[in-house]
Amino acid sequence: MAVLLIFFCNTWASEQQIIDSHIHYNWDQAEITTPQDVIRILKKHAVEFAVLASTPTALALQLSELDRKLFFPLFSPYTHELGKQDWYKNEQTWKLAEQGLKNKSYLGIGEIHFMAGFPPKTDNLVFRKLMQLAYEYHAPTLIHVDASNETIFIGICQQHPEIRIQFAHAGGNLLAPHIEKILNTCENVWIDLSARDPWRYDGLTNAQGKLKLDWRELILKFDHRFMIGTDPVWRVTRTQSWDQADDGWNYYDKLMDYHLRWLSDLPPPTRSKLQYQNAKNFYNFEN
Ligand SMILES: [Zn+2]
Repeated sequence: MAVLLIFFCNTWASEQQIIDSHIHYNWDQAEITTPQDVIRILKKHAVEFAVLASTPTALALQLSELDRKLFFPLFSPYTHELGKQDWYKNEQTWKLAEQGLKNKSYLGIGEIHFMAGFPPKTDNLVFRKLMQLAYEYHAPTLIHVDASNETIFIGICQQHPEIRIQFAHAGGNLLAPHIEKILNTCENVWIDLSARDPWRYDGLTNAQGKLKLDWRELILKFDHRFMIGTDPVWRVTRTQSWDQADDGWNYYDKLMDYHLRWLSDLPPPTRSKLQYQNAKNFYNFEN
């Protein structure tokens, strides 16, 4: 009886464990959401740890120092409030990255954004230096590419086969066949499904909140290489209010519930991999 009880407890526990592979705590979120709010929200959802990137990047350290077990802080090349616009022109960026990785205050690099047709290109010097550091320090790297197909991202992952790369939002607007090509081409890539929700990139689920068939088949086929995340940045949907603080953390429950709903329709072992084990493996996180 005791053995049976332990078995059921373990099964239950593994189904409940969650790692959020994609959160932000940016300056415009910090205006209305305190570090204590973030910690409370993550703990409420039994998140074991969350992969954190901030703009400016120093905010990630301020938050993670409050609970080293709860956060996996990434070095964001956006070192000031508007850093997303000029990071690739600033050669100091990789020096700061190196310092942070060397002293282990940062444990990975990202999120780095590219947009097809807009600067920077993926061959710019600062990005290449950051990838060199990722290689030297075995740092997992979170990369976001907005494009109409998988070509740009495949260019990156093929050039850096030794770096573990997390592809943000399954490429945003990319479709299951694009992602399948990436998974077949680059063994070093894991896919995060954050922001693939009905309020932002969308495309993952049907009207019943279950995975669309092509995504379901792909996820079952590569069930060791997908991770979930919330990416609680809400302003992306409110283009009229760039002057307001980002209240994305107020929607954390809604974002997490959305993902847990489609996950609940998957076989329990797959569900557990997506919501916990894959991210744990990817980030090789020792608790
Ligand atoms: Zn993000």
